[in-house]
Amino acid sequence: MAIKKMSIIKINNVSVSYNSHEALRDVSCVVEPADFIALVGPNGAGKTTLVKSIFGLVPLKTGSIELFDTPARKFTQWCKVGYLPQQSSTINPLFPATTEEVIELGLLSQKRNPKSITAKDKKHVAEIIEKLKITDLKKRMFSELSGGQQQKVLLARCLVSKPQLLIFDEPSTALDPDSRESFFELIKQLNKQDGIAVLLVTHDAGFVGKFAQKLLYIDKKIVYFGKFSEFCKSDDMRAFFGEHYQHIVCHQHDITGNN
Ligand code: ADP
Repeated sequence: MAIKKMSIIKINNVSVSYNSHEALRDVSCVVEPADFIALVGPNGAGKTTLVKSIFGLVPLKTGSIELFDTPARKFTQWCKVGYLPQQSSTINPLFPATTEEVIELGLLSQKRNPKSITAKDKKHVAEIIEKLKITDLKKRMFSELSGGQQQKVLLARCLVSKPQLLIFDEPSTALDPDSRESFFELIKQLNKQDGIAVLLVTHDAGFVGKFAQKLLYIDKKIVYFGKFSEFCKSDDMRAFFGEHYQHIVCHQHDITGNN
């Protein structure tokens, strides 16, 4: 008997329009367990609309979406999905809480009554803090942290519910290049070591190939979906992007395509 492979997200022929304005046309793709997919495209390409579709926040004109092999409209296990929006937009930066408290809030929001933190929860939070190497930030006020530090704390807050999928929306917008590199490296580690599937939205196609394994490039419709390593071999992509840019994106070769 053939064993059906589980998928994390299955997007089937999805089209979305805002009134008469078409944002997505016939998009199909699958996020499999332990994938690290970069969702890339120019401004206005429909990246945010695709993420909103996954969360059921915009009506689909055509097509369907499944999450963990369940039709999205019937999906209830949202604790399996961690979402990190653009920097700090979920938490008031002046919120008077320590780093540790902000992370614990991630646990509380998942709990039914009684909403209290147990000793086991404390241990779990401590493990995540250690894993993300933010022990020194534990007692500091969230509002006093740098952008890169706040981003790590918000990631820790997502991780407390042991997600199997993490969705990042332009996580590097407000980060300096060093913080961006170390944040993307951290995401790669979580993907590799813990097998968490990652969908990372970015407009920066020339950077993310160092970390992600697959590229989903959209411009209203799918331009490319597949491995970065195959992207650079594609004649279609060479014709679309030009050879120079193709190798900037693929990260498999130097930009002259020599190695
Ligand atoms: P991206 O995230 O790639 O920048 P978006 O998904 O935000 O793209 O937008 C795709 C297109 O849909 C753009 O042309 C944008 O102007 C339009 N759009 C996005 N949200 C809305 C909305 N709520 N109402 C009308 N048009 C929208």
